[in-house]
Amino acid sequence: MDAHHLPNIFSSIVSTACRVVPDLAHVDPSRILVCVRKLPPTRLGETLGLRQAKARRGHDPVFSTMSVGGREILYVITFNVSLVSTAAPSRQALETVMHELWHIAEECDGTIRPARHGKGFNATVAELHDIYLSVGGRPVPTFEPHARVRLRHLRGKGRPGVLSVRRGLSIAATVPKAWKQAWTEDDMRERTAVLSKLLPPSFSYVCPHGHEVVRFRKLSKASSCAACSKTFDRRFLLSPNKKTPT
Ligand SMILES: [Zn+2]
Ligand SMILES: [Zn+2]
Repeated sequence: MDAHHLPNIFSSIVSTACRVVPDLAHVDPSRILVCVRKLPPTRLGETLGLRQAKARRGHDPVFSTMSVGGREILYVITFNVSLVSTAAPSRQALETVMHELWHIAEECDGTIRPARHGKGFNATVAELHDIYLSVGGRPVPTFEPHARVRLRHLRGKGRPGVLSVRRGLSIAATVPKAWKQAWTEDDMRERTAVLSKLLPPSFSYVCPHGHEVVRFRKLSKASSCAACSKTFDRRFLLSPNKKTPT
């Protein structure tokens, strides 16, 4: 069986989102290179703006250029492969797509929107997510653990761009001068792997009605079953699943 080409799947969702969501109309998807790889479990996605020249005292502004298949790339968005697992929470993958796209500046010129993470940012992301679905955008597909998936990353010669925006915190880092360079498709690496080999350890929970919920993080507070009640409800508390995971 052919592997599911995750970079193409995410690229096509990115393109659709830019076309159908009015607030993303400024984003030109042809300027984005989409990668999918294993990232640390808490980092669902990251966006590099290749023109985010952040000059600091004593440092030159640094930026990278990238050309892939004749297109000039201004942004590299990397998604965590765990997003396509059937164990990922339902809105997470699509919200991460919207989150990363919202980091792209209004000018779509390789710089990052000057917006901080927080409640306002998350509210916008949730809205973009809902609008995309309401106009018929398709959700990010999920795959069973045994599925074979195609991944893409940039090879390790440092990373392009100077600003890495991570979920939860924005970090402006000045990249050493040695990393300032031109990137091409030769720097792209693709490989095929079995999804389960790429996923972090998971934790299984069960509600009193027998619904099973799998999470990549241990529940830190009392949580109730979303299938039984949309809002928190003590009657449907999740407890660790004793039976062996399938
Ligand atoms: Zn972010
Ligand atoms: Zn339930």
